[in-house]
Amino acid sequence: MVERTLIIIKPDGVAGGFTSEIIKRYEAVGLKVVKRKDMTAPNDLVEKHYPMDPQYLRSIGEKTIAAGQQVKSAEDQGRKVVSWLRKFITSGPIVVLLLEGEDAVLVARKITGFTDPTTAEKGTIRGDLGTDSILQANQEGRPVYNLIHASGSPEEAEKEIKLWFGLKIQ
Ligand code: ADP
Ligand code: MG
Repeated sequence: MVERTLIIIKPDGVAGGFTSEIIKRYEAVGLKVVKRKDMTAPNDLVEKHYPMDPQYLRSIGEKTIAAGQQVKSAEDQGRKVVSWLRKFITSGPIVVLLLEGEDAVLVARKITGFTDPTTAEKGTIRGDLGTDSILQANQEGRPVYNLIHASGSPEEAEKEIKLWFGLKIQ
């Protein structure tokens, strides 16, 4: 099914000069850039994009644990990570992309790769271009630098496209 998905090239991706390489990689797997917005994101938008939802916070805290750092509460750690993340995403220029193609959400997630660049598979964008690790990031009190946000599901994509471009999927 032809779908749309939302990609954000984060401040580390833009500042690192990876924008055109990242776009090329999505195009190479058959996705088309339908809209592009170069901006520095306002706080209120980013707070909606990365909500303090308990289940989401736990899933983020669990990534810290899986990376080898002990924490008292996954949810509390997730809350810390999301506050670091919000600050980081608003800290500099980003590029927001609306991509379209067959199974766009899944295809984009696959080529983006896992959250932690050190364990992301080679051949994925994070695995090839990213160098940071979740463990190091947590030890330094910051989000892991992994260049990109990619919508995680069609529902997330619909919500995010509306948020960043003011459009619904259909
Ligand atoms: P993804 O971007 O792979 O979908 P999440 O939605 O779980 O990952 O998290 C959003 C972003 O927060 C990640 O891309 C990453 O930059 C950061 N992040 C997530 N989990 C952690 C963690 N445990 N420690 C540090 N940063 C994290
Ligand atoms: Mg996510």
